[in-house]
Amino acid sequence: MRALIKDKPVRGATLTDLPLPEIGEEDLLVRVQAAAICGTDIHIYQWNDYASSRIRLPLLFGHEYAAEVVEVGKRVKNFRKGDRVAAETHVPCGHCFQCTTGLQHICRDMKILGVHLDGAFAEYSVLPAVCAWKLDPAISSEIGATLEPFGIGVHALSKTKPAGKKVIVFGCGPIGIYAQMAARFSGAEVVIGVDVSGERLAMARKMGTDIVLNPKEMTVQDEVDRITHGAGMDIVVELTGNRGVVNDAAKTLRRGGEMVLVGLYSGPVEIDLVNNVIYKEATVYGVTGRIMWETWWTAQSMLLTGRMDISPVITHRFDLANYDQAFVLAESAASGKILFTI
Ligand SMILES: [Zn+2]
Ligand SMILES: [Zn+2]
Repeated sequence: MRALIKDKPVRGATLTDLPLPEIGEEDLLVRVQAAAICGTDIHIYQWNDYASSRIRLPLLFGHEYAAEVVEVGKRVKNFRKGDRVAAETHVPCGHCFQCTTGLQHICRDMKILGVHLDGAFAEYSVLPAVCAWKLDPAISSEIGATLEPFGIGVHALSKTKPAGKKVIVFGCGPIGIYAQMAARFSGAEVVIGVDVSGERLAMARKMGTDIVLNPKEMTVQDEVDRITHGAGMDIVVELTGNRGVVNDAAKTLRRGGEMVLVGLYSGPVEIDLVNNVIYKEATVYGVTGRIMWETWWTAQSMLLTGRMDISPVITHRFDLANYDQAFVLAESAASGKILFTI
């Protein structure tokens, strides 16, 4: 099968031929239909510290995907050949404290598809059945491939009660835009998106965000003060993972507000807890991945209402052969979700 692998500890990737993978008794063999590029894949492609400290080569990478089941492991009961599935990236151990208390998504022995286990930038992939989400017939495989990042946005907002609230999201990459859409869908009074990329802000506007702010052109705090008459935002979602942004984000939070931290920082972060959290009696949530399977049910239900169309967030499609072009575009931040159609 054709497969895009990472086999050298330098920038780039290699398109190669691999034998069809063998599956275990609790796995599915799936034929990949669409796979999206995620920030993690960019790290792997670039081979920066994040990638080199986590990954053993060679690796078949790519983890946001939808596929058709072509072979079912002996002990798998709830899937058949021909089922269309999306992949939950976090593979839980099934036995630890978290796994046995409904917190599989933060399993202490978690493996990640396309990071610790072979992924899906290929014609076929092995998907542990425990991580397979059966796609509703009304959901296309392209949308299926983006349910994983969409789910992070949905999960982030689900920590809060956005109805009638003022919500600000720092970061207008795909997950930021999904979070803004989830806030609007959930009845937020006003949704603000913040980013330094004009393209990304334009996408946020297109997808229904009420107000977009570019910190290169104004002081976000001043704008928020103007919009909220000095009160601050009810809900702040931080998705940039930029250490410089987190304090600015926290300053926009109103007293008694809720802050959701999702973006991943490259190291320890200095934050003024006294003024931004303690005196404000703020509630701060950390969010990672998606709750299995609660977030997936919520995400799918939102889409099935027909009142939320996330398909325009997919802006580019590539064949695997053009992977270099796809990754250079993904690095530029001048795109929404980029898919390999396989
Ligand atoms: Zn991802
Ligand atoms: Zn576990």
